[in-house]
Amino acid sequence: MRAFLRLFDLDTSDPELIRAQFSSFQGHIPLLYGILVCNTVAITVTSFNSEQLVKTLFAPIAISGIAIIRAIWWLRQGDARKLSDTEIAKHLKRTCQLAVLMTLVFNAWVIWVYQDANAFARSNLTFFLALSQVSSVFCLMTLRAAAMLVAVVSTISFALYFSWVEGGQLLPQSLVLCCVCIGMAVVTHSFNRSFSEVVQSRRTLHIRQLETEKLSEENRRIAFSDPLSGLPNRRELLARLDRLDERKGLPPNSLAIVFIDLDGFKQINDEHGHHAGDELIRTVCQRLRAQCPDEAILARVGGDEFTVLLETEGPAENAQTAAVDLALRLLEQMSLPVLVDRHVLQISGSIGIASNSDAQAHPRELLRRADIAMYHAKTEGKAQLAIYSDELDKGRLRRIEIEGQIGTGLGRDEFEVVYQPIVEAASGAITSAEALLRWPRRKQGVLSPDEFIEVAEATGQIHPLGLYVLERACREIQPLGELCLSVNVSPAQFQQPGFERQVLSILHQTGFPPHRLQLEMTESYLLTNPGQAVKATDVLKAAGISLALDDFGTGFTSIHYLKSYGFTHIKIDKSLLSGLEPDSKATMLVAGAVTLATALDMKVIAEGVEHETQARILRDIGCHAMQGFLFGKPASLAQLERGLERAGKQQRQARRLRMVR
Ligand code: C2E
Ligand code: MG
Ligand code: MG
Repeated sequence: MRAFLRLFDLDTSDPELIRAQFSSFQGHIPLLYGILVCNTVAITVTSFNSEQLVKTLFAPIAISGIAIIRAIWWLRQGDARKLSDTEIAKHLKRTCQLAVLMTLVFNAWVIWVYQDANAFARSNLTFFLALSQVSSVFCLMTLRAAAMLVAVVSTISFALYFSWVEGGQLLPQSLVLCCVCIGMAVVTHSFNRSFSEVVQSRRTLHIRQLETEKLSEENRRIAFSDPLSGLPNRRELLARLDRLDERKGLPPNSLAIVFIDLDGFKQINDEHGHHAGDELIRTVCQRLRAQCPDEAILARVGGDEFTVLLETEGPAENAQTAAVDLALRLLEQMSLPVLVDRHVLQISGSIGIASNSDAQAHPRELLRRADIAMYHAKTEGKAQLAIYSDELDKGRLRRIEIEGQIGTGLGRDEFEVVYQPIVEAASGAITSAEALLRWPRRKQGVLSPDEFIEVAEATGQIHPLGLYVLERACREIQPLGELCLSVNVSPAQFQQPGFERQVLSILHQTGFPPHRLQLEMTESYLLTNPGQAVKATDVLKAAGISLALDDFGTGFTSIHYLKSYGFTHIKIDKSLLSGLEPDSKATMLVAGAVTLATALDMKVIAEGVEHETQARILRDIGCHAMQGFLFGKPASLAQLERGLERAGKQQRQARRLRMVR
């Protein structure tokens, strides 16, 4: 029973459903009232009686008037979205009540007219009544309560009336009316259920659509931003550059790209783990962001690469000048220490700048140019900035060319190793030789080691080249008595995992005693990678190999600092020797270095000794060994052997002379 009564309940608990019902009513109710007015007019025409004006004219006018007013009201209801849920529920409730009221009024009027009508008018009345009933229920179908109430009210009133009049002759019509009512109720009920289901599935669909939109927005965000820093990534930067490119007529000097690459980030990652690396990146990002103007776009375009896209007003506000100002601030920020997991990490950054100063410099080209400039800043010693110029590009193309040639050169045996003697300062005896790489059989012409080694270091080709020099020099010098060997090692070689093992394996294969080998390295390795440097040098020292710091005096390393890394020798750079004259500042400087190194148990080798005066001064201030053109230029193994022979003979002669005297 309760379930039956619930069929007549107006359920307003689902706001979306009542909105859908309201929207469907906006089209159906005017139609319902239209049909009602037509039926009323039709009944009026067929039953008009001038003596019964109230019944056959005024009453239908009143009914039609109310119907027209309600139809107009519904037609004027515009966008349902402007109404609140409560307002909609209120309107539906009122519609429900009015539908019942109008049914009762219409039925009462029809019964009233029926009483005095002739047989023809009565059949018309029955037809119009049934028509009104069916059309009302169908038009109200989306609102179950209204449709059910209208069906029941109109059926009961007429079924009762028809059963009562004409001595029960119209009972069959009453029964048919009841059957039609039951049929309509069943159809209304199932239609209503389907309607709710459609609304429900539309809602589910809408929710899914929202979820999909959210998901695709999330995907877009992931695809175009860097998850670690939250900054735009390379793809986003390229998209922005393309959008800038589409904006024709960018004023010259209005766009600049600052390309930043962290120095020594890889080592921090290797040494302290990726967690520390991530932390460092986050801190660096914050620092960079804090320096960038609000409208500038800071992006993370690689593991340790960032770009800043700067747009200015054009000639009045030059983008390149703004970029240089910004880059200087960024360099300063990047050089500040970073605290990660109780470790103070020190890094720096190399910066390249390019601006749209010429017509060819479209946005993507600017990125390429800034990258080239950054690479230049890196190869020039890092922690600095470089501004793009066409010369840099030419240099880059040349480097690419050399890179390819080194690869083929190694395969074709175009490289050679030469040796420069190192003499003991006191006796002048050749005690050692430095192995130096040459490329004499290069098809395109001879290239200085400085030039091709720089390329090999940048491309990683220094690994096979370095091992080639070490292996060949060990093999060639091994038979030369007690002569020691000095081999240059680039910082990049030390960073190669397993480098120490490879050195020891070469010594083993060539039978070269470790105590005769000295590895020369520059201080840049110590500064960028102190932890790794200690580990690698410890293994080599433990094997008996000695370590020399090359080019001392060109950097800032103190002798104390060198000692802590286990260096046994320091090689004073030839640039310091140029002013070596009695009582000169250079002499005092070198003398100070020699005294300090000796006190710390380190030996000093002077490089680039060209004149006898320099040699004398160096001997006087206590320098241990010397190397330079004065004692021999870098030369082939055969020449070194001849030199050794000559020196041996001279020494034997000198000894004989001393004995004769
Ligand atoms: P370096 O290790 O400092 O080598 C000494 C450089 O000084 C050599 O130049 C040598 O020829 C030059 N030199 C020696 N005595 C004199 C002198 O009296 N006057 C002048 N003006 N120069 C002198 P080189 O052979 O051109 O090598 C240049 C640099 O290339 C080396 O500097 C070293 O850093 C690098 N290098 C050479 N061979 C190798 C190698 O096999 N591996 C690595 N990693 N680097 C190498
Ligand atoms: Mg050297
Ligand atoms: Mg040197």
